[in-house]
Parts: sequence; structure tokens; C-alpha cells
Amino acid sequence: MYRTKTCGALRLTDLNQAVTLAGWVQKARKFGGMIFVDLRDRYGITQVVFNQDVNSGLCDQAAKLGREWVVQVKGTVAERSNKNPNLPTGEIEIIATELTTLNPSDTPPFTIEEDTDGGDDLRMKYRYLDLRRTSVRSNLELRHRMAFAVRSYLNERNFMEVETPVLVGSTPEGARDFIVPSRMNPGEFYALPQSPQLFKQLLMVSGFDRYFQIVKCYRDEDLRADRQPEFTQIDCEMSFVEQEDILNIFEGLTQYLFKAIKGIDIPTFPRLPYADAMRLYGSDKPDTRFGMQFIEIKDLTTGKGFGVFDSAGYVGMICAEGCASYTRKQLDELTDYVKRPQIGAKGLVYVRYDADGTLKSSVDKFYSPQDLQGWIDRAKAQPGDLLLILCGEVEKTQKQLSELRLEMGARLGLRNKNQFNCLWVTDFPLLEYDEELKRYFAKHHPFTSPKPEDIPLLESRPGDVRANAYDMVINGVEVGGGSIRIYNSELQQKMFSVLGFSEEQAQAQFGFLMNAFKYGAPPHGGIAFGLDRLVSLFAGLDSIRDCIAFPKNNSGRDVMFDAPSTVSQEQLDELHLKITLPL
Ligand code: ASP
Repeated sequence: MYRTKTCGALRLTDLNQAVTLAGWVQKARKFGGMIFVDLRDRYGITQVVFNQDVNSGLCDQAAKLGREWVVQVKGTVAERSNKNPNLPTGEIEIIATELTTLNPSDTPPFTIEEDTDGGDDLRMKYRYLDLRRTSVRSNLELRHRMAFAVRSYLNERNFMEVETPVLVGSTPEGARDFIVPSRMNPGEFYALPQSPQLFKQLLMVSGFDRYFQIVKCYRDEDLRADRQPEFTQIDCEMSFVEQEDILNIFEGLTQYLFKAIKGIDIPTFPRLPYADAMRLYGSDKPDTRFGMQFIEIKDLTTGKGFGVFDSAGYVGMICAEGCASYTRKQLDELTDYVKRPQIGAKGLVYVRYDADGTLKSSVDKFYSPQDLQGWIDRAKAQPGDLLLILCGEVEKTQKQLSELRLEMGARLGLRNKNQFNCLWVTDFPLLEYDEELKRYFAKHHPFTSPKPEDIPLLESRPGDVRANAYDMVINGVEVGGGSIRIYNSELQQKMFSVLGFSEEQAQAQFGFLMNAFKYGAPPHGGIAFGLDRLVSLFAGLDSIRDCIAFPKNNSGRDVMFDAPSTVSQEQLDELHLKITLPL
């Protein structure tokens, strides 16, 4: 037996037991005639003692140990005179009687400790060593526990996990596909699935009734802190359900996870229609840990000679409580913040409502104290508050004001990582107009059902049609989204035609789906959660990378494997591929 106990198991109650441990040398230190070795495995750290006076040969052997050597130690459990209250095993140590080196180690490129000296790139290159660090490993342990809890919740409710293929056909809607050339079908390509959407719907046609899968999905998009080219979804679909049924089951799943994993009771999720989310927060994934909702004042500002507001389609503000004392410098900083190209506002107007009741604004030239008082009243602002105002075209300005709101929330410490505010955003528009391409795109995907009462508008006013679609949002993060699906082949055909597909194109791309709908498709709907986002939220991480065992870097590279990489000419020939690189 390599070991009888793990390095995290032993306590005072185990005194005098003869044990065998195996693990990695975290640290070895000499102290007089003694050598203390911290032996580490996944379960913890145990101190092992070698005593020169008791066994000098063994002690000499221990003196040679280096960091990260893999060793086996036999010995007896003893009480420590110098206890370490920070370690669960801190009250005991092992008096070694035998030491076997199972494998020596080169000196690792960074220290495998909480405060490591390794930079990001180095740790990514040696990810297998980084994963030995407790903080990184504990994120993956959390991920495992969450995935396990998801399976258990869904299994108890009759959901069946079904695997769907990874080599699929490329479809034109959605993000960019990763494609895979087919050797046996020269000139033809598979795509990696962006989600198992069509398969899960077909499983409903097959009568599977309740499906789920914890599954990798692939999207060739630009990367961000919360995006990886491959990511994991908790993908679910149900038959004979309405939106309400789905929201209930998956609100339940989320509450179950919070309780089981974090011991937190989450109350019933508020529901916020998309139009209200945009009006109040300028975002379809509002962070509702704090208020600071938008207040529109276009009507109060027009006709006073301030052309910038007069010509704007939208004038809106947020009220930052207690910020009237902001200095010129702080206000300039905020102005610079909204003028950054990523946000793109032209400027920022403010009104200070000083503690003594005086009003001071950056537009005093145009607005009298009475005018400003009208804005203050609408905002229900209190002395000491600061109004921050942006104007311009409606949607753009709402987006900019949303960024400013989040920034103010962060500056005021209102975005507490240990507080969780969950909600559903519902009633999304079915379609989104692309000004450049002059056509409608499905806001969610083309299989999402319009609200039955809005179907008559599909041809006349497509932009006004609302969908039976919903997103789950936690602390400003979209953790999941789904919809009730179209299950009637004519309606599906109509949807494709609104999206600009000719009948032939629709048939070529999605004929199998519309065909399937002719053979008794049940009403159905579903949802998919981003597991990586959910885990990073639970762990309080800033990037989803830290809860993925082997993530890609910001340029989509696996720096450990050095992928992507070139392949041999033979491989290319076999695939009938010719590479021409731009000069
Ligand atoms: N397949 C969808 C997505 O990946 C989720 C769903 O509609 O169930 O966003």
C-alpha cells in the first residue's frame, strides 16, 4: 500500500498510530538536529519530523529532499509541541521511521504556495503545477461539487443526461463556428457545436421529455474575461411545458445550488421584462445588488436653450447617493471614464445637491435653480446626492449610462461579491435589426417561439414581436438563457423567411428539423446555463479562466500545449487543404 492515510486526515485522536503517507514535499526546513518536512497532497499538509539523534541515516536522507519531490513516509503520529492553528492537521506531526523517494523533482519554476511568485504566463505554461496550488484546486473542487449537485437535482426530477455529437454541421445563425475538415469527404467540413440546440429539440420529438447534458460548446468569438472559445453549458430541455414551468424548475435548481454549496437561502426571483430592464438599467443583465435606477428627464430639460439636450433623443440620469462632495478631480475622472472609446459618451453633466441644499451644476448657464430642483424632485434626491446625466440617441445613451451606473456601484462599494441578487429577465424581443446588414436577426436563436399574441405582427412589425424567451441574471452576469420553442413546421418556416432565408436555403440548412416537426413534435422549451460563469460567481472570481482546469489565454491559445499549431504537409494533403497565408 502506497499510503494508509492522506495528508489531510490525521488529528490528535490518531496519536501513536503507525501510518504511511505519500505526497509532495512542499517545504523542508532544518532546525537544530531536526528536519521538518511539510508533506502535501490534495487533501492537506502534514508535518513530518526527522530527528538526527534518533536516526541519523534517515535524517541525512531527508536533508536531500527538494521542493516537489514525491515521497513516501512511514512513521507514528505524535502531538506537536508547537501547534499550528491554521492547519486542520496542525496539532499533530509524524515522527518518521522510513523515507522512500518515489520520484525526485526539478526545482519548480514558481513556488507552489498561496502567494506564488509565478506570473500569469508562467503559471499557464506549467498549469499542471499551478493546479497543485490550493486556491486553484479548490475552484475545481467547487466546480465538481456544483456539477454533481446539478446532476443530482435534475436526476431526481427525471431529467436524463444524453450525449450529443461534437462533430456537427455548420449552421449560418449565431456566432462563428469552429470547423473541422473531413478527410473522408474532401472539401467538406464539420463544425463544433455552439450548443446542442437542434439535438435537444430532436430528443423532445423522440419523446425523451426531460433532457440535460453538461456539455462543451464552441464559439469562435473574440475573448473576454467571461468568455473562452470552449466553455461548458448545463443544457436542458423539457416537453409539455410553458415558460412558467421552466422558470420554476430552474429557479429551483439555482436555489438548490446556493443552499447546497454556499448555505444561502435565495428568495423567489423577481421578474423583469426586457423593456423595463432597458428603461431602468440600460442593460438586459442588470446588476440589482444596488438601485441607482435611471431617471429620464428629457421632458424637463427641453426648450431652455441647451442645444445638446434639446437635440438628444434621450436625457437620463442616475442619482449617486452621498456623492455631492465629489471634487472637481473626481468629476473629471468620471467624465473621462464615460468618454473612453469603449463607452463613447460625448460628455457628462452633473448636478450637485449640497448638504446645505444649494444646487450647483455644470449647466447652470441654461438651467435655473428651479429647473434643477425639478430634476432633483424627480430623482427623489436628498441633500448630499449627486446627479449624473448623459444624453444622446436612446439605446446608445442607455448603454453608456449603464456603464456609468456599474462604475459608480463599484466606486461606492455596492457590488459585494458575497451578496447574490438573482432575477429573470423576460419578454425579450424576438428579433433584432442589424442596421449595417439591413436585416433582422433572431435575438436568441431562430427556434424561439414568438408570444402567441404577437404572431400576427411577424410580417407587419417584426421588431415589435416579443419572444417567449428568458435569461437568468445574477449580479449583472447572464448565467443562463432559454426559450419556449417553435414546434410547428409552418411557423418555423415563417420565422426563417422573416430572417431572410429563402425556402430552399431554409430547407437545405434546417430541413431535417422542419421535417421532424411533421412527425408529432410536442410543445417544448429549455434553457442553458454557463457552468463556468456560475462557478466563477460562486467562487467570487473575476475571470472564468480560474475555474477551468486547462483554459486558453486571451488570444485563444493553450500555452502549455502550444495550440493552435501548424500541421504537417501530409496531414494537409490528406485533408485536401491548401493553406495560403496573407503576406
Ligand atoms: N442553446 C441556447 C444557447 O446556447 C440555450 C437554449 O435556448 O436552451 O444560448
